[in-house]
Amino acid sequence: KYDRVYNFSAGPSMLPLEVIEDVAANLCNYKGTGESVMEMSHRSKEFQQIIDDAEANLRKLINIPDNYKVLFLQGGGTTQFSMVPLNLLRKSKKADYIVTGQWAKKAYKEATKFGDIKLVASSEEDTYSYIPEVKKDQFRTDADYAYICTNNTIYGTHYPYVPDTGDVPLVADMSSCFLSEEIDVSKYGIIWAGAQKNVAPAGVTIVIIRDDLVGFADEKCPVYLDYKIHVDKGSMYNTPPCFSIYVAGEVFKYLLKIGGIKEMHERDVRKAGKLYDYIDSSSMFKGTVRKEDRSLMNVTFVTGDEALDKKFIAEAKEQGMINLAGHRSVGGMRASIYNAMPEDGVDALIAFMKKFEAENK
Ligand code: PMP
Repeated sequence: KYDRVYNFSAGPSMLPLEVIEDVAANLCNYKGTGESVMEMSHRSKEFQQIIDDAEANLRKLINIPDNYKVLFLQGGGTTQFSMVPLNLLRKSKKADYIVTGQWAKKAYKEATKFGDIKLVASSEEDTYSYIPEVKKDQFRTDADYAYICTNNTIYGTHYPYVPDTGDVPLVADMSSCFLSEEIDVSKYGIIWAGAQKNVAPAGVTIVIIRDDLVGFADEKCPVYLDYKIHVDKGSMYNTPPCFSIYVAGEVFKYLLKIGGIKEMHERDVRKAGKLYDYIDSSSMFKGTVRKEDRSLMNVTFVTGDEALDKKFIAEAKEQGMINLAGHRSVGGMRASIYNAMPEDGVDALIAFMKKFEAENK
């Protein structure tokens, strides 16, 4: 009814229409306060309620244990690349990284500025088309933490397992798969995720941190980059990204309403399953990653002919299916089908791929 397109962007990406409609209905006068959340003081009791509800609903959604803190921060995923080592390199100053894509590599490189950082495994030699299997004895037992990126947005891979790091806290960048699957938070020291895929508009990064890992930043650490200040001040040391936090809260409510992460995951499995099944049966389109490691969120594929890829992307756009080009560094196609992509959008894409294949044999 709004003449909307299916947006297959890797992020910022689609939000549930129901949430957008609700936000729109409250945009000029949020629930009778006489003001918009965009204009509201972050010190007001109305905003305090918004951020408290957002945290409580997120805790409920993914069962966050009490000994974990939830933070709503700015600076995007990129800021976490330095915040993690600045706070967690606290004893041996050693950390172990698995590099499964460009975002993990950036995190790894940033960490090397601050300590003794080991590259435990990498799939770079094979264009990050798989997730290496890493055993416990490959991690240093005296490392301060180990680091992974669970879903690799650019390549379309996802960890089929949680690496066993023993007593070494595991830090996970879950930006592009957060809230798409049930997770056991207690297996991680830190989970963090940028909002602009499954959660909210860009601007807020969610950090879930075990409380015994808080408070170790060096005194020279810039104040914003110290997790402790945000823990102590309830994410309100300075002005938080109020509007993004508000929308995140609305998305959490929406997810609880539809049946939680279990229901969302079933939908995601169904959507991705259809698309991969079609790709596997197609004689034109080929998946680019190892099947066992396929992402439910970012589906990457090629025709093998760059000109044909371009034609496909251009014609899909004319049909209202936008942002299907692969990341500029890898080419081909990438359909990001995050939580908010309706199943109809995936059906429309498959129908278009079939038609394109028949017309371009
Ligand atoms: N991690 C992952 C998995 C990502 O997909 C991205 C960005 N798309 C980032 C980190 C970087 O996030 P930001 O652009 O918010 O700095």
